[in-house]
Amino acid sequence: MINFDYLRVSTPKAAIEALSRDSNAQWIAGGTNLIDLMKKGVMAPQKLIDISNLPLKEIKKEGGKIHIGAMALNSDVAENELIQKEQPLLCLALKAGASQQLRNMATVGGNMMQRTRCPYFYNTDLPCNKRQPGSGCGALKGFNRMHAIFGASDKCIAVHPSDMCIALVALDAVVLVNGPKGDRRIPFSDFHRLPGETPQKDNTLDRGELIIGLEIPDNPYKKNVHYLKVRDRSSYAFALVSVAAALDLQGNSINDVRLAMGGVAHKPWRLSEAEAFLKGKNASEPVFREAAQLAMRGAKGYGQNNFKLKLAPNTIVEALKTAAAKS
Ligand code: SF4
Repeated sequence: MINFDYLRVSTPKAAIEALSRDSNAQWIAGGTNLIDLMKKGVMAPQKLIDISNLPLKEIKKEGGKIHIGAMALNSDVAENELIQKEQPLLCLALKAGASQQLRNMATVGGNMMQRTRCPYFYNTDLPCNKRQPGSGCGALKGFNRMHAIFGASDKCIAVHPSDMCIALVALDAVVLVNGPKGDRRIPFSDFHRLPGETPQKDNTLDRGELIIGLEIPDNPYKKNVHYLKVRDRSSYAFALVSVAAALDLQGNSINDVRLAMGGVAHKPWRLSEAEAFLKGKNASEPVFREAAQLAMRGAKGYGQNNFKLKLAPNTIVEALKTAAAKS
């Protein structure tokens, strides 16, 4: 691991100013991903600016919306009574992520900023366009069992690794950002991006923009929700496929629905077409299966991950069935 300078800041303004003074500086909060990246030589910042003490840990309801500070810990959000009551889908997704020890360290903002776990990205001896643009994509014809089936490009087929973010895109969260040019509000579905020609960019933040927090608008999804994560072991493993499902039921009729998938694309993958199909239908397995087939339009496997083409629709159906059965 390289040597680096360390600076601790206590206000968002100081954090933004400190970063703008040094093009090789990097913010660090929980460090649960960045430290790994530094140990492996994937990232080598000369200065770490510690933002974990910024006063951005509050979780509250204001103006009918839930506000979560960017420095709130994943475990604190998952165990928060207000979030459990008002946004249970988010709690389920958070508890499916990483391990309890990691959730105790990881922040909400850091969770959103974590990098892909593509093994080529973490091995500096191998080609990877995300780590070193122009070097090629080792996964395209290599080990790609964990990789994308939607929205990939011939430059990168990596997937976004977060569970929390899958629930947040389904819940229409808004990312609150502060930067040298002032404040910005980014719809969660526009925060992460597809790889296209520039896979080195994971999201739509400009350098120097700091995530301040999240806003989640009120919604009716308090009971019939489920986060189903299919993975190689029951804890401390990334999703092969995950589904966040939320139903607003009147009797057996679907008033409204939210659906998103993880482990399948470079960004949290919202299933808008399937949602539109489900609205007004009765909650039943044949209907869920039809919606799942719609959701799979445009999916493409790359060899080792072809099994996801079958696993993904089955996971959608199971997530919807489990959400509908909650009473
Ligand atoms: Fe790199 Fe993306 Fe290819 Fe993985 S899939 S090797 S992260 S370019």
